[in-house]
Amino acid sequence: MSEREEMPLDVLFVGGGPANLAGAIHLKQLSQAKGLEIEIGLIEKGDTIGSHSLSGAIMDPKALQELMPDYEARGCPVERSECRDAFYYLTPGGKLAMPYTPSYMHNAGCKIISLSKLTRWLGEVAEELGIMIFPGFAGTEVLYGADGKTVVGVATGDKGVDKDGKPKGTFEPGVNLTARVTVFGEGPKGSLMREVGKKLGIFENRMPQVFETAIKEVIELPGDSAFLSSPTTVVHTFGHPLGLSTKGGGFLYKMKDNRIALGLVVGLDYDNALLEPYEAFVQYKRHPLIAEIIKGGKVLQQGAKTLSAGGYYTMPQLYADGALFVGDSASMLNIQRLKGVHTAMKSGMLAAETIVEAFEADDCTSNVLKNYEAKVKSSWINDELYLARNFTQALGKKGVGMFIHVGAQYVTRGRGIIDPMAIEKDSFTLKELKPGVAAPEKEKSYDGELYVDKLTGVYLSGTRHEEDQPCHLQVLDMDICLNACFKTYRNPCTRFCPGQVYEMEEEGGLRLKLNPSNCLHCKTCEIKDPYENIIWTCPEGGGGPNYSIV
Ligand code: SF4
Repeated sequence: MSEREEMPLDVLFVGGGPANLAGAIHLKQLSQAKGLEIEIGLIEKGDTIGSHSLSGAIMDPKALQELMPDYEARGCPVERSECRDAFYYLTPGGKLAMPYTPSYMHNAGCKIISLSKLTRWLGEVAEELGIMIFPGFAGTEVLYGADGKTVVGVATGDKGVDKDGKPKGTFEPGVNLTARVTVFGEGPKGSLMREVGKKLGIFENRMPQVFETAIKEVIELPGDSAFLSSPTTVVHTFGHPLGLSTKGGGFLYKMKDNRIALGLVVGLDYDNALLEPYEAFVQYKRHPLIAEIIKGGKVLQQGAKTLSAGGYYTMPQLYADGALFVGDSASMLNIQRLKGVHTAMKSGMLAAETIVEAFEADDCTSNVLKNYEAKVKSSWINDELYLARNFTQALGKKGVGMFIHVGAQYVTRGRGIIDPMAIEKDSFTLKELKPGVAAPEKEKSYDGELYVDKLTGVYLSGTRHEEDQPCHLQVLDMDICLNACFKTYRNPCTRFCPGQVYEMEEEGGLRLKLNPSNCLHCKTCEIKDPYENIIWTCPEGGGGPNYSIV
């Protein structure tokens, strides 16, 4: 294969989400103001900026306001500026309006947005400022200096390699992008963060990283929909279909153009190996409250993503020699407020301020980069996350125990009954199934318009991968799948994957079939596999979902 080119930069941002885009823009703003020449590059594995961005999303605009006070005048895409909340507990057939909504769930002053639209717009702003943006480039390896511990950049993956690893006629070697500072903003469960974590120990002495999986749709409602003319713009629910023993809940946000965003979030610490988050999402849509709102509608786009739910006690060390870690990669989502765009953006901006200090001191080692962690600790990110430090643990309690812990934390400003409350790794929580227990019947009455099956959902996510490439999902030991996992859990990968990537074929002998082209890049499989037998690696750059309005 041909030699790799090296492309030297001053600062490399890995990932085109809100944390890194805000960080790159702020770094450019600060360096221009100080007359510093800093060459900035940003790589994104999606085909375009925004194509892999999916979130609820209600955004607290405070970080964006700090970054660009005139963001509205500059054309920032906002779906709605008024948030009028409704909060329900759902039973299988009914609803109970919550008489009291905790203050952290109030959304006054927040904006309903599409994250894919917001990141696309931030990408345009960044490009106008002269930041080099490279979409379609997947970082596949972290580069280290001669000491083996200083991060000096990232290698991007080769393109045009066939499924046996041989170069095709379209072969293009990857590039070694080197930089004095590399900022990792890969989102939840990044594959480079996994490697950095192992090599540099940044997750040591922290509670385990935990996650939730969200399945989301944008639905177009008929023009005469009663919900469109109601004052409510935000609906949050808990209870059905997850009950009180599985963490999670539903959300519905009113967007522009007769559209709504509808989704269900499922905590990946669930213990029922037969649970299928996608089926739960369909059941959620079938609930009378939701079914009435979406009646006559049509699904325009669907997607799935995990979110980092651990927060304060799971945050890694935020710096290393030559590297900083931001946003969801550093577990900065505020699960209590169901928001992470603002904390992600602020972390990127604090990273930018630290990088300027490092360039001024001509020292990009931990000596200066550790200032970033101090900045995060003295910022409003820390204030928010500290108040919610035991929240994900409380939500993980079963039945009324959950209400007791959540209530205790509310009155004690996050301390609760035990502080810190322990967190169990998501891969360890499934209970062994009794012999002969079968998975529940699946939804059969999909109409292909408003109720769509998994494969139609994959189609509606715009997901596309080059078929002839090495499989990006590594199953470490197939014997585990066919024996231990089949007997103990009936292969939960076939259920927790929202893309129908894993299928167990029993005819002619048990066989696990993989459909990697369907992969939505949500990372649920690497997180939830009970034997930690699946490793998600980056497929060829440019592959994956193509979100534009979620
Ligand atoms: Fe998500 Fe893994 Fe399925 Fe891809 S294969 S959609 S990352 S669960």
